[in-house]
Amino acid sequence: MDLKKTAGMPRIVIIGGGFAGINLAKKLKNKPVEVLMLDKHNYHTFQPLLYQVAMGAIEADSIGFPMRRIFTNQKNFTFNLAEVQTINPEKNTVTADIGEIAYDYLVIATGANTNFFGNKEIEHFTMPMKNIGEALNIRSYMLQNLEKAVITEDYAEREALLTFVVVGGGPTGVELSGALAEMRNNVLCKDYPSLCEEDMKVYLVEGKPVVLGAMSASASAAAKESLTKMGVVIYNSVHVQSYDGLLLKIDDGTTIQTRNVYWAAGVMGEVPGGLPESTLTKGRRIQTDDINRVVGYQNIFSIGDVSAMITPEMPNGIPGMAQGAIQTGKHLAKNLMHLINGEPTEPFKYFDKGSLATIGQNKAVADIRKFHFHGFFAWLLWMFVHLMSLVGFSNRLSVFVSWAAKYFTRNTDNRLIVRFFNTTTRMTEPVSK
Ligand SMILES: Cc1cc2nc3c(=O)[nH]c(=O)nc-3n(C[C@H](O)[C@H](O)[C@H](O)COP(=O)(O)OP(=O)(O)OC[C@H]3O[C@@H](n4cnc5c(N)ncnc54)[C@H](O)[C@@H]3O)c2cc1C
Repeated sequence: MDLKKTAGMPRIVIIGGGFAGINLAKKLKNKPVEVLMLDKHNYHTFQPLLYQVAMGAIEADSIGFPMRRIFTNQKNFTFNLAEVQTINPEKNTVTADIGEIAYDYLVIATGANTNFFGNKEIEHFTMPMKNIGEALNIRSYMLQNLEKAVITEDYAEREALLTFVVVGGGPTGVELSGALAEMRNNVLCKDYPSLCEEDMKVYLVEGKPVVLGAMSASASAAAKESLTKMGVVIYNSVHVQSYDGLLLKIDDGTTIQTRNVYWAAGVMGEVPGGLPESTLTKGRRIQTDDINRVVGYQNIFSIGDVSAMITPEMPNGIPGMAQGAIQTGKHLAKNLMHLINGEPTEPFKYFDKGSLATIGQNKAVADIRKFHFHGFFAWLLWMFVHLMSLVGFSNRLSVFVSWAAKYFTRNTDNRLIVRFFNTTTRMTEPVSK
């Protein structure tokens, strides 16, 4: 497909091939439209399992799937590897690093990024986890620090290298701190015989009075109990004030010396330039009407995590979860066809299928409509849902085999340092030959 629009069928340009973008594009298969997807990665990422990549539990490749392969059999679909910098609504074009691209209908599905709330020091020294690259940085840096801890003779430095702080007690923070505790309890002493469990500390810092605050009270309580039993020290109702790469300060006066701080405390919309600030709402998300049309525009739409459809039933918008992205993507396909055919549109209604979070082996919490449960059955359900949601049979098989091996050995095999991560430059460095 030429970057210039060809005459004939209307061209729908989708920026972003996350859950929202790919579900929209799939639903447009065999429809009389040209679909052009632009993404800065040539693959779709399954973000819910990023923490397992970071902890070396599964291979990085098994949570990504090549975008072109997803749409091999879709004739009206084209993919271009491109990062969109600006939207030009007055010209009906977007400016990307590959050039200027024309659209008839534009869909912004760019997801969310980490929110450091404007604190540059925290942004520089903590480790975020929103994509595969960042998950691999965490894996490398954690393993580098364990290697350093084994050889250093400086006791204080050794303690800092072996102290892990996760900031943010939502599902990501809970899953990450649980996985760290499992690593400490099951792997540390086997792989590093000079270290013992007591040497490694895991903290979880959360601003709200509970962890998993968006889930039911019973899920929050069960998660806290399991994490505490696994040895995670939880600080609730406190906020991180500063972190300079060594000293973490919390607003209740607590200080922690640590070389490992993982930032899972906030997200904000990843919005390309060109839209006026007035279109953005809380968390830099793009405000839309009830058909995901960006407020103030006729042919620009926004779906998934980057969008905010504020309704009386959902004053904070649709939850920033995979289901919200999938459902808005699929529904928009119908409405785009209605608009193209001059038919009345159908307002979007979110169907809450429930929430799941895992804490460790045999431990998860589930809120499925009126049912709240935790433990082994919730964990089985969590595994089934995540396995089935992965894109690609080979990915499902690879993750299933890794999980089965981990279940029986209580160990993981993906703890390779294939590149070093330098927290000062924020760059990866090759391991010399
Ligand atoms: C660590 C983690 C764990 C999670 N766990 C869960 C969970 O257990 N359950 C759950 O339901 N949800 C979970 N989520 C949330 C879920 O992954 C998101 O809600 C979902 O991915 C949103 O889909 P999306 O399509 O809106 O955006 P994304 O999946 O983020 O996709 C956005 C796409 O846009 C591309 N992009 C961004 N900007 C540009 C640009 N300027 N130009 C070109 N391309 C661009 C990106 O490369 C990306 O491919 C988790 C998220 C994270 C980060």
